[in-house]
Amino acid sequence: MLDVVRGTANLDHIEGALNSALAPGQNVRDPATAQAHAGDWSEAPRTTPGLVAYPRTPNEVAAVLKICSEHGQRLVVQGGLTGLAGGATPMTSEIVLSLARLNAIEDLDTVGGTVLVQAGAILEELANHVEAAGWYFPLDLGARGSCQVGGNAATNAGGNRVIRFGTMRELVLGLEVALPDGRLLTMLNRVTKNTTGIDLKHLFIGAEGTLGVITRLVLKLSPLPTASTTALCALPSFDAATRLVRDLRRSLPSLSAFEVMWADYLETGAEVCGLRLPFDDAHPVYVLLETLGTDEHAEQTALETNLEAALESGVVADVIIAKSLDDAKRLWAYRESIGELLGRLKPFAAFDVGIPMPAMDAFVESVGAELERLFPNQRHLFFGHIGDGNLHVLSGPHESPTSLHEVERVVYAATGRAGGSISAEHGIGVVKKDFLHFSRSKEELDLMRAIKSMLDPRGILNVGRVFPEVDE
Ligand SMILES: Cc1cc2nc3c(=O)[nH]c(=O)nc-3n(C[C@H](O)[C@H](O)[C@H](O)COP(=O)(O)OP(=O)(O)OC[C@H]3O[C@@H](n4cnc5c(N)ncnc54)[C@H](O)[C@@H]3O)c2cc1C
Repeated sequence: MLDVVRGTANLDHIEGALNSALAPGQNVRDPATAQAHAGDWSEAPRTTPGLVAYPRTPNEVAAVLKICSEHGQRLVVQGGLTGLAGGATPMTSEIVLSLARLNAIEDLDTVGGTVLVQAGAILEELANHVEAAGWYFPLDLGARGSCQVGGNAATNAGGNRVIRFGTMRELVLGLEVALPDGRLLTMLNRVTKNTTGIDLKHLFIGAEGTLGVITRLVLKLSPLPTASTTALCALPSFDAATRLVRDLRRSLPSLSAFEVMWADYLETGAEVCGLRLPFDDAHPVYVLLETLGTDEHAEQTALETNLEAALESGVVADVIIAKSLDDAKRLWAYRESIGELLGRLKPFAAFDVGIPMPAMDAFVESVGAELERLFPNQRHLFFGHIGDGNLHVLSGPHESPTSLHEVERVVYAATGRAGGSISAEHGIGVVKKDFLHFSRSKEELDLMRAIKSMLDPRGILNVGRVFPEVDE
């Protein structure tokens, strides 16, 4: 059964086709429901769609695409709408295909450690489900309670534990994708080693829904860690953080998170969340560390030994080691203040740039100084998953689109100069498409466009995202 929510636009032709192809039993709901689909977490202009389709099976997703293709009807795919690049935000005249009701966890292989899951499953629910069976899905990010695994794959999400487990690209074994013309491509491989020609799943991971709609995924699980340690360190400089991550990678193989927060981020996050500052003295840089293993005593001893050495050598100035799960949650709260900060600093400019480690310190210093000079009344906060070279910048509130654009110009120009990437994890969507040339050559962009034209010749799916010129 396909559920459809109708908005106000005149979409009789497409609704009629959807009903006749996929009914009986479609639900038509009040247009107010469509408002919940007007946009993601980014500052891309919101548009209430005229119609929202909620397919419940992969075949229904394929049917919606086939009908849209036949009618030349543009549509945008929506997962959990936590994206920060505007990719899932509808444009005028687009209908919405929501994966919210294609959300079953179909099969958990507790011997091989894989799970077959539908694209609309919520990340946190999947993680809890596999943990109950003694397995672990390591992708973790602040939006875990709302984002969907299909959206995670479409954006090649990273998050807090990439340093140990990799991005979504490393965690997906198999995919099923509905193509824009309505064909269903089932590639639900369950084995790690598979050398049978071009691995097509990688075309769709990170493509932000421009090439097809992910309907099901086979995900690789890890054995459930039973021991974990967490520590918050205060450091004298960013250089010290680079030495700490290098040393810990060598001597602490269970290191699973290394999250850097510059002082402004930690202090503003504490302020908006009502948290006490963790240390008596202020420090320029803080690092939140986590290890995951199986032997509580061994993990704790290894962490303490390493941090004692770092204190002695002056790499770390002060440290708090969690003694309980509650302590660990309290320490993570400083890093997790991002959800609250995004709400408070609206309208914001949020960046997820990739910067080579040797250039990171100078990048933060020069971009911070320039933003401070141009916008002295706004907050400019720096933090990130530094073990992977992924730096986040959050700047706001910026009431005018001109100042938002000016912040983008400053950050992306500096990213280009540093030889970095304009997106390390959130994707391009609509908010970064004009800056893609900073990170991709003309030859790469031409090839991407050729693939898009081949798979979506009628130009109906997530048009105007990622590659601007061809689509519009
Ligand atoms: C507080 C907060 C913290 C965050 N932290 C991180 C972080 O640490 N790391 C990180 O990587 N991201 C982070 N994000 C960004 C966001 O959560 C991720 O990009 C997430 O993967 C998006 O999933 P979603 O289901 O919400 O997708 P949506 O926002 O709904 O969509 C994102 C894009 O994917 C497409 N899409 C969605 N579902 C499908 C599908 N089934 N098939 C094809 N295309 C699809 C959409 O069209 C859109 O282009 C954060 C966001 C917030 C709000």
